Amino acid sequence: MSRLLTDLPQPAAIEALTEESVVVQPIGALEQHGSHLPLSTDLVIPEEIGTRAVDRAVENGVDAWLLPSIAASKSDEHHWAPGTIWMEASTIWNTLVDVGRSVAETPARTLVFLNGHGGNSALLQVVNREIRRRYGLRTFSLGSGTQRAGGSAEGGPDEFGMGIHAGHSETSVMLALRPELVDMSRAVRSVPEHIAGFSTIGFNGAPVSFGWTSDDFGPSGVIGDPTQATAEYGRALVEEGTEFVATALAEISRFRHAA
Ligand SMILES: [Zn+2]
Repeated sequence: MSRLLTDLPQPAAIEALTEESVVVQPIGALEQHGSHLPLSTDLVIPEEIGTRAVDRAVENGVDAWLLPSIAASKSDEHHWAPGTIWMEASTIWNTLVDVGRSVAETPARTLVFLNGHGGNSALLQVVNREIRRRYGLRTFSLGSGTQRAGGSAEGGPDEFGMGIHAGHSETSVMLALRPELVDMSRAVRSVPEHIAGFSTIGFNGAPVSFGWTSDDFGPSGVIGDPTQATAEYGRALVEEGTEFVATALAEISRFRHAA
């Protein structure tokens, strides 16, 4: 049975949802991913992982439901590359708050944003609180669990912990999910290795963050090393991501703010 909530007629959808239901909203992005991956990369991945993870969570007894993906989001770091369809922060903010308001009018009390694009992460943390305050939903955000930063200890090419865009892990995942859309003959390595020399400044997780657009690091649009990507590694990441999201959905379904 489909777990896509919008496959149901409205009365059946409202009957199916309860206070225990977990509604999952995948958020994609339509943005340049170098010359070897499709613009839709960050849409394909959360949609595929979301579908698999919701099915697995349901098998494990979680009343999880999927919404159709939001295709475009806050990809302003790729604004320089025509073909990128990007929203202002205020546009995606309003869109997500509107989703929260709409879900709050159903019996469901839990909304999960499954985010396919790192550029949305900071905004999602703020949106989670806004929807919580305005509409009382339990709100959560997470990624699809398939991205790896690519350090020297991880076995793949060394991306100096900066394999964040169209690099080894993401290209491998696309070789697993949509091989017909990947052109490995166009894959190039582009890693801003000098940034690894800073101890406080860096990408996600570093204590000092910095503003950037993806053309700051070179003309390819890639931040990472896709040249050794394989479908086999991609399939392992898809399984890890599916299991991570399914496990998270199970925890989310029993999370309550007060003991
Ligand atoms: Zn991506």
